[in-house]
Amino acid sequence: MKRQKSFQNDLPTLYLVATPIGNLEDMTFRAVNILKSVDIIYAEDTRVSHKLLSHYDISKPLKTYHDFNKEVKSNEILQHLREHQNVALISDAGYPLISDPGYFLIREVIEEDFNVVSIPGANALLTGLVVSGLPPQPFTFYGFLDNKEGKRKKQLMELKDKTETLIFYESPHRVTKTIQNIHQVFGLRDVVIARELTKKFEEVIRGTSESLKDLEELKGEMVLMVAGNKNSIEELDMSILEEVKMNIENGLSSKDAIKEVARRRNLTKNDVYQEYHNADMTDERRQ
Ligand code: SAM
Repeated sequence: MKRQKSFQNDLPTLYLVATPIGNLEDMTFRAVNILKSVDIIYAEDTRVSHKLLSHYDISKPLKTYHDFNKEVKSNEILQHLREHQNVALISDAGYPLISDPGYFLIREVIEEDFNVVSIPGANALLTGLVVSGLPPQPFTFYGFLDNKEGKRKKQLMELKDKTETLIFYESPHRVTKTIQNIHQVFGLRDVVIARELTKKFEEVIRGTSESLKDLEELKGEMVLMVAGNKNSIEELDMSILEEVKMNIENGLSSKDAIKEVARRRNLTKNDVYQEYHNADMTDERRQ
């Protein structure tokens, strides 16, 4: 067990500071004060962060921390902490760690018993969720789906039975394709796109996987939210063979289709394989 009493010790601290997701006024007083007080700031992209810091008159040494240099930079940050310096980590927008770098670093910092303190502020998923009109809890935040369509569909298959609201980060050039995939894999669901949140062209598009699947190309940053599955497994009323076939039609290999059905029905892969194989053979004999 490790207990961190954040403000009742003299240990050096790594601050995870949330920054605006578009509207500079969403910077908190506390975030500005902390960034002015630390010895060094690490940022995902120093050019992006430089603009924010100069807007708030913050002049502190600024260095990069991103996924490609996380090991070297984590060592460097640990060294600052060991020398009793306080460090802040910021990302381009919103919270560090949330679909952004930082997780590797905080594991190391926790391991060495320094403080890790979060300075709250703007964040895209919660800002989108509360205006969506979808049930706000429970929810699953998934972050970005895979770039490759095959993998993306497989990820969606795994999420298909979840009854909670699903939240994804999406890029503008891929969102229509993703909604088409959602329609193929989930069927009809309520879908909401929250675009350019906190910015001049903020827009919330509420519809369904059917009505939004042929949307014109959208620009800007967006959060994609999907209503949870209201159907329980029993209500699906499909045989194992039908379900495996449906998964194959949705783009899974037969191996993955069988694996998915086994997972959903709490069976072994072998059970599903036997059932599928036997039913398929019977089907063929009948034809
Ligand atoms: N760390 C950030 C956070 O706490 O929300 C998320 C960073 S992630 C790399 C960037 C993604 O967040 C974008 O591709 C988009 O999906 C979402 N996002 C960021 N800003 C947004 C905004 N103003 N409106 C809608 N979505 C936004």
